[in-house]
Amino acid sequence: MTKIRTRYAPSPTGRMHVGNLRSALYEFLIAKHDGGDFMLRIEDTDQERFVEGAVDIIYRTLEKTGLVHDEGPDKDGGYGPYVQSERMKTGIYMKYAKELIDKGEAYYCFCDKERLATLKTEVVEGKEISIYDKHCLSLSREEVEANLAAGKPFVIRQNIPNEGTTTFHDELYGDITVENAELDDMILIKSDGYPTYNFANVVDDHTMNITHVVRGNEYLSSSPKYQRLYDAFGWQSPVYIHLPLITDENHKKLSKRSGHSSFEDLLEQGFVTEAIVNYIALLGWSPEDNREIFTLDELIKEFDYHRISKSPAVFDIVKLRWMNGEYIKAMDFDTFYEMAEPYLKDVLKKNFDLKKIANMVKTRIEVFPDIADHVDFFEALPEYDPEMYTHKKMKTNAETSLAVLRDMIPILEAQEDYSNDGLYQTLVKYVEEKGVKNGYVMWPIRTALSGKQMTPAGATEIMEVLGKEESLTRIRKGIALLERTIG
Ligand code: GLU
Repeated sequence: MTKIRTRYAPSPTGRMHVGNLRSALYEFLIAKHDGGDFMLRIEDTDQERFVEGAVDIIYRTLEKTGLVHDEGPDKDGGYGPYVQSERMKTGIYMKYAKELIDKGEAYYCFCDKERLATLKTEVVEGKEISIYDKHCLSLSREEVEANLAAGKPFVIRQNIPNEGTTTFHDELYGDITVENAELDDMILIKSDGYPTYNFANVVDDHTMNITHVVRGNEYLSSSPKYQRLYDAFGWQSPVYIHLPLITDENHKKLSKRSGHSSFEDLLEQGFVTEAIVNYIALLGWSPEDNREIFTLDELIKEFDYHRISKSPAVFDIVKLRWMNGEYIKAMDFDTFYEMAEPYLKDVLKKNFDLKKIANMVKTRIEVFPDIADHVDFFEALPEYDPEMYTHKKMKTNAETSLAVLRDMIPILEAQEDYSNDGLYQTLVKYVEEKGVKNGYVMWPIRTALSGKQMTPAGATEIMEVLGKEESLTRIRKGIALLERTIG
């Protein structure tokens, strides 16, 4: 059996789109599931789209997500160079383009911009492209030689007959057959000497012994042309897996507008790398059971590309938030604290025990920025509605709350031990003496301390963090507010 070799072949054009990360992940999983090799190839032939720094983003993302490549520009595995602009300098693309010309499967084209502008156009995937009319195919060998000798700019085009059909196979879509008349004579080598992606992907996947190609289904319509190139060379094409579109909640292609279309966006929004990878694995793939939480190692074990679905995958940010929350709950405290600290410090400027507060919120947040809403009351007591003291289940109202808070002043002034346990014992004693339920006492105290319906911890834990002086100040404020209310 041949060893599985997959490749992630990004174009360095900016942030890592969720769809690209999914391709990388699936390529990685297919290789690793079978003990194969996962390779990184940088596709930088489109110099106009090249973005400074984008290559660094690619390396950083692969490293952070754990998609460790076995070969790539930084790790020679004997199939280099691994950057297309460097491969071009070896002359490999020109050599194969010329081979196609010799076989009659490609030809030089010298048409200038003015002539091309007069050609018929067609809209393909939203883009207007001109359909080349094979004008230069009729040039004689001598004419071509003369043009080349005169240094006339040229491109090399694929020669696709107007008759017949071409068939290729995709793992998800099965056999796809198209009329050759529908395929344009695409450019293989551009006038700047660079190959197009369309040509380079075929030459590279073959010469780098790639066995499985995973990519977005926007490449499906070009694949018959790639198949013709494989056939012309007498090469076997790799297994093709064209992945379904990833859409937003409105079933539109997931785009920058959604605000969460790239890996970097998600990190900035406080998502955890492992949760992002886990979620992306499920954008088009599902295991046999309904299991949803997977580590990368578990994915390697379970991943079977035959279970990839071809229906569009909806990127559901609500689901990702839920999953992220599960990862945060499962984190060890030190890791959690390291990630939570900047978010805590952003809101809490006073001298609080941040570790205690972090512990309170760990099981309550879905993403790190949620922290602010949970803890802001520590920093400053918000204005609140005295109605909050009235709670049906706790059997409290303004009057009962005022009585409890008044009782608390001397008790808490006398209290030496301001630990959660110490405070709790004192309050429970009060509860027992009064013969009431816990909530009857805790509810008004917690309200006075936080001004919030929901807090990440109970009254005594909050008091422990606030300390004696601040706790008493807040309780006095509560008393004043209730006195004003009752009048
Ligand atoms: N460079 C192409 C892209 O980033 C790669 C497509 C492929 O995997 O073949 O879209």
